[in-house]
Amino acid sequence: MADDCLFCKIRDKKIKSDIIYEDEELLAFKDINSQAPLHVLIIPRKHIEKISDVDEKNSYLIGKMIIVAGKIAKDAGVQESGYRLVFNCGPDAGQVIFHIHLHLLGGRKLGWPPG
Ligand code: 5GP
Ligand code: ZN
Repeated sequence: MADDCLFCKIRDKKIKSDIIYEDEELLAFKDINSQAPLHVLIIPRKHIEKISDVDEKNSYLIGKMIIVAGKIAKDAGVQESGYRLVFNCGPDAGQVIFHIHLHLLGGRKLGWPPG
């Protein structure tokens, strides 16, 4: 837990967000600045700063995040058209919120390679 972490505040409902999935370990909510018709962020409730901080003890959370992302994609109807899952890690990747989050993007043709 970090007192100044935006996503901990979203988790604790101190900051409003459009939550679309919650369980005892994860939370998923719409990105405030969506880059695609479907743009959801999946986070663990546990504050972990960067994907490079994941270790053997908490790595199961990453699998859960991917499974939840897949269910959200299916519910949103993009399972067949396709979607992208992204973890940004550190400054060069453009990580601005240091509480790990999985971006789920879909609903349009996504460019590759990314900028
Ligand atoms: P990053 O660049 O760290 O991988 O992505 C952070 C994401 O968080 C960005 O896509 C940004 O739009 C999103 N974001 C930043 N502040 C808020 C907020 O207050 N609410 C929500 N729902 N998303 C946010
Ligand atoms: Zn946090």
